[in-house]
Amino acid sequence: MDNKQNQTKYIIVTGGVLSGLGKGITAASIGLFFSNDYNIVPMKLDGYLNSDPGTMNPIEHGEVFVLDDGFEVDMDFGHYERYLGNSAIKDQSLTMGRVFQEIQTKERAGDYLGKTVQMVPHVTNLIQEKIQNTAKKTNADIMLIEVGGTIGDMETELFIEAIRQLERKVGNQNMCFVHLTYIPIPGGVNEQKTKPTQQSVKMLQQRGIWPDFIVGRCSEELTQATKNKIALFANIEQKSVLSCKDLDSVYKVPNHFNDQGFVEQIAKKLEIKLKNKDKLNTWNKLLDTKKTNNLKIAICGKYTDLEDSYASVVESLKHCEYNLKTNIKIVWFDTENFKDNKTKLSGIDGIIVPGGFGSRGIEGKIDVIEFARINKIPYLGICYGLQLAVIEFLRNVCNKPDATSMEIDNKAQNPAITLLDEQQNVVELGGTMRLGKYEGKLKSGIVKDLYTKLDLINKNGIVSERHRHRYEVNPNIIELIEENGLKVCGNSIERDLVEFIELEQTKHPYFVATQSHPELKSKLEKPSPLFYGLIQAALKLKK
Ligand code: GLN
Repeated sequence: MDNKQNQTKYIIVTGGVLSGLGKGITAASIGLFFSNDYNIVPMKLDGYLNSDPGTMNPIEHGEVFVLDDGFEVDMDFGHYERYLGNSAIKDQSLTMGRVFQEIQTKERAGDYLGKTVQMVPHVTNLIQEKIQNTAKKTNADIMLIEVGGTIGDMETELFIEAIRQLERKVGNQNMCFVHLTYIPIPGGVNEQKTKPTQQSVKMLQQRGIWPDFIVGRCSEELTQATKNKIALFANIEQKSVLSCKDLDSVYKVPNHFNDQGFVEQIAKKLEIKLKNKDKLNTWNKLLDTKKTNNLKIAICGKYTDLEDSYASVVESLKHCEYNLKTNIKIVWFDTENFKDNKTKLSGIDGIIVPGGFGSRGIEGKIDVIEFARINKIPYLGICYGLQLAVIEFLRNVCNKPDATSMEIDNKAQNPAITLLDEQQNVVELGGTMRLGKYEGKLKSGIVKDLYTKLDLINKNGIVSERHRHRYEVNPNIIELIEENGLKVCGNSIERDLVEFIELEQTKHPYFVATQSHPELKSKLEKPSPLFYGLIQAALKLKK
């Protein structure tokens, strides 16, 4: 074991009974308390065989989150960043697909010196190596490791076994296990039931892992009787069984844990100090603000069946709720049926067309954008929402009825949204887009004013946002849209690509779009300027 002072500490979060209980939020909420004083580095282990979630349909797996370094990761990284602050790096996301890929590469290279390559020790060793290398590379004081899936899932067994072995290596005093489970209250029984938790803890123990803490997700506070029972079966102290009751905001979970002395117990177990709670205090002040306004904002896309598909967009609106004292009701608008759903847009205060791919539902999105433009409803277009705003404007204002994107019609002559020359020959889908952090320079206008107001611009007018797209605005249509009032108000530094557009203020109160994904960087304590601007404009119109 390393010298004690340099020893990285490990907090492992596993899930039991069901998926979707909020392991990511639980991990991030614990991490928040240590993020002031320690370099706490989240890591997610996912059992699926994809290299990364980049090629997965959002309906299947929720939003694909993008890091500064351009790596596509699980949406839980959104929670980590919103709670802990820092951008993660590629190494912090590990899928079984990448583990196996590396094992295969090593085997072909003869690295195993004629040995039979096995799940144990070769795969489990590689997983431990990856975890420890990430700790070293990021200089982590604390590694906060979330094991995806539910205990008992075949696909996470190797991760669990690797962690069991890692505990032997680093010592029990340097590793702490938090197991999140579900406590149902069946209808008609009206009693908190602990059996599923007992069984899931047993499964963990059979695998050689003894949880230090059990967090019970439940529709209400766990009763003392429930805690006692779980403690007895899990062989832990009663105070180490925590409640995670349903709350009206995920930002209240850290406080809920704090009230139960959870983090102090973790600090004690890991022999680390909990010095201050600045961030919690900032959050609490915001969370306590009384919301006196009400708005209805439509999110218009084709993945509206699963709200997680647009998780960061939803979070960005929540950040505005607290910073602008407004209750926002989200109206999910399926653009595949614009005509049937159109009545849903009556009385709407703002419209967002978020990122998307492919040609399905596109004409509906263009109709929605036209509706926002003509009726002067505040509009925010994100990525595809910018590209389609340009197409709508060309078709309906600049008299170019054929305007389209290569993504919709790959044989189009002179498409308004096109592939750059160097992209023409890319055939693979995974990881081949313009991904990650890029800087853009803003010209004066609404967008620049907003970034200035929220102090997210440097003195040279440069801002930085993340990207995830393949197509770009064709430079040869810019003059035409600008002449008609749709201004390019920000370009990328490195290649002068269109990054931000806005309609002249004499024509529309707030019609703004960006090629980037500003939702990925919005924080409760610092909302994204473009969302802030949308809500501010909607409030102004309402008054
Ligand atoms: N489909 C568009 C592109 O690839 C936009 C992508 C997005 O909205 N994230 O360029």
